[in-house]
Amino acid sequence: MSKPKDFEKYIFDFEALDECPLCSSKSFIPAGKIQWLSNEFCFILCPVCSLKYMNPRPTQSSYNTFYKEYFWQQKTRNIGFKQPGQIWQGIYKKDKFHNEKKWKSKEGIQRLKTRHLELRTNNIISILSRHIKLNEKTKILEIGCAFGATLQTISKQFECKVYGIEPSLEARQSIEKEAIIELLGYFAQDLERISKQESKFDAVIFSHVLENTTNPLEILTYAKQCLKEKGVLYIETPNLLLFDAVNPYHPFIFSRHSLSLVAEKAGFKPEIVSESLDRMLRIIGRT
Ligand SMILES: [Zn+2]
Repeated sequence: MSKPKDFEKYIFDFEALDECPLCSSKSFIPAGKIQWLSNEFCFILCPVCSLKYMNPRPTQSSYNTFYKEYFWQQKTRNIGFKQPGQIWQGIYKKDKFHNEKKWKSKEGIQRLKTRHLELRTNNIISILSRHIKLNEKTKILEIGCAFGATLQTISKQFECKVYGIEPSLEARQSIEKEAIIELLGYFAQDLERISKQESKFDAVIFSHVLENTTNPLEILTYAKQCLKEKGVLYIETPNLLLFDAVNPYHPFIFSRHSLSLVAEKAGFKPEIVSESLDRMLRIIGRT
């Protein structure tokens, strides 16, 4: 298993936006900032479309290196969270603060997979099965599939063909060892290349991933081209109204309106399937 590099020395390259990346409004409402290691991350709220976004923000190529070499590597070892109380420490509540005890990577990966199964996989299966048939002919692509908990479960339960895109070298190594998921690329931007292939998918999943990209509209536009005629898009992401998930990895935090808008602009007919008071937004997009 590869060792994590010294994440504390990682420096992001930043870029500034002149307008809202979703509705082009030039009105900015400052909406808080956070400190992480030596970096400061500032957030803006768009008063027109209700999108919350980081500005300035790390460039995509800067994030790409981070996701490839640091992100899961530090999370699975419980390192990198230097300021107790920061909101993104709270995701594993039963494990106390992240930097109290370091984990071995194997233990961290198992904790993470269990957590993903508890919090995400059952919802994904229950919602997808209402919209498409899950059987041995079904092809499912997950963007940012991490260590593969969801896709491996779908494959075992329904014999679907499962495909992933995942940047983390450590996660890819673990996926390749289990040989259930076929990896098609490293980054969400690889959807552009995949969209040109003849073979299409019944479902494309973004589970806590779309908010981590710097160009969600473009990514969803390519995702649409990767789907079969009656294929479905599934997105799960924090709900700005109840879970303002500011952290260094989220250039975007969506509301019901802004998430529907980005899916519509990408050519989907979106339907919000979560309740308005759920901490997570879940939508299905039909082609
Ligand atoms: Zn806007």
